[in-house]
Amino acid sequence: MILKRLYELPAFVVSRKIKEQEVTAEEYISIIIERIKHIDLRINSFISHNFENAITKSRAIDKKIKEGTNTGLLAGIPVGIKDNISVQGLKNTCASRMLAEYVSPYNATVVSRIEEQDGIVIGKLNMDEFGMGTTSEYSAFGPVRNPWNLEYVAGGSSGGSAAAVASLQIPLSLGSDTGGSIRCPSSFCSVVGIKPTYGSVSRNGLISYSNSLEQIGPIARTIYDLVPLLNSISGFDPKDNTTINRKSEYQTNNVDNILKKRYKIGVLNELIDESESEVAKNTRKKVKELENYGCEIEDARISLSHYALASYYVIATAEASSNLSRYDNLRYGYEGSPEGYEWNSYFAESRSRFGDEVKLRILLGSYVLSAGYFGKYYAKAQKLRSKIRKEFDNLFNKCDILLLPTMPVLPFKIGEKSSQPIEHYNLDVYTILANLAGIPAISIPGGLSEKGFPIGVQLLANGFNEQKLIDVAVLLENVVGFKTWIPKI
Ligand code: GLN
Repeated sequence: MILKRLYELPAFVVSRKIKEQEVTAEEYISIIIERIKHIDLRINSFISHNFENAITKSRAIDKKIKEGTNTGLLAGIPVGIKDNISVQGLKNTCASRMLAEYVSPYNATVVSRIEEQDGIVIGKLNMDEFGMGTTSEYSAFGPVRNPWNLEYVAGGSSGGSAAAVASLQIPLSLGSDTGGSIRCPSSFCSVVGIKPTYGSVSRNGLISYSNSLEQIGPIARTIYDLVPLLNSISGFDPKDNTTINRKSEYQTNNVDNILKKRYKIGVLNELIDESESEVAKNTRKKVKELENYGCEIEDARISLSHYALASYYVIATAEASSNLSRYDNLRYGYEGSPEGYEWNSYFAESRSRFGDEVKLRILLGSYVLSAGYFGKYYAKAQKLRSKIRKEFDNLFNKCDILLLPTMPVLPFKIGEKSSQPIEHYNLDVYTILANLAGIPAISIPGGLSEKGFPIGVQLLANGFNEQKLIDVAVLLENVVGFKTWIPKI
């Protein structure tokens, strides 16, 4: 193997090579840094880099290995972090002008856990401002470009996290998913991304958009790389009282053992029918593949799916309006002084730093929470959310997994939908279900369209049943092999 092309290999392979001293962590990190410098000018997936610290860390890992000290699950592997997850000493901008200069004084729990496993933080990744968006166009640092076609959106809001992995810059990243932000860009860029069960991964250090919906989760090129990162970050955290006290040790089981479990797959046919024709066709192909494996296939239906979007956008904007109220530039925000300003004009000026989409959501959220409208919108949205949860409970009494597309459409051109909020929000129709219900969901590369755009397939399971998602992901990945679909960049 030519050393220079190490960046092409899955992380678990490189990590083994590092542990066996076939290659050093420092050599690998240097190759990755060169690759990022070479590629990212075109993709715009990074907001900031952590190159010097990364090299120092890699040397420390090499030293440990030479001395025979045990190293962790992610030994020597660079991980990119979405720019709404705190890394001590690095800027944490949330892709917003509001936080453009903010440097985090502490590590998010997930970041500490990555470091405990000898993973290396390589930089912070571009996104929609505060996670609000589905395309990564709403970033104060410019849009992320899709590695499959630079004129097209990468998906969002964790667009940088998916595009950097898809374009072979880094093998692993973290995103956050409030209503699909890990799965959408994973689908548009052809990588694997999982939103874990609510409460299974700590949100301590994640800058909140909508607390009751969001989770941090990993993105990788293969399920075999994703699992070690998921294992590293999962589990109870005393700093996040929504986390559950159970340690998850997920496995990538072999195909024969998975087949013995005889999974029942519920196919959400009605929803598949509503997607773009190539998406629908590809999703059905995946159902066939699972049927060929001997999985039991059933028709499944969520009767309230069409109300889910409305429920989501009421709850998400309500929580966002409250979360973002702290950025008044007195308590939180950028460097500035109220000297010489009158009370209202100071806050008006300060809050004008938010981008238009964020402002729109703050207005929407304040509206649905205001006296007189609370019952009409917010309380109703919460009732719907409970009903949707119940529907899922019933479905998971009958099947192990639900299958549907990740996105209803193929990637589209940058700028095409950015000024049409409703059309934009409609794109989330398949992904928000899992967030409302708090259940785990994964997007897996499913194939390419005729014009060569990635199509993702989405699997949902009952709470804390990530292992089932991983098992079925192994099956589907096994059909196409490791080197699934890699963009020519
Ligand atoms: N597109 C959805 C939204 O804008 C989801 C975003 C996310 O998951 N952070 O709310």
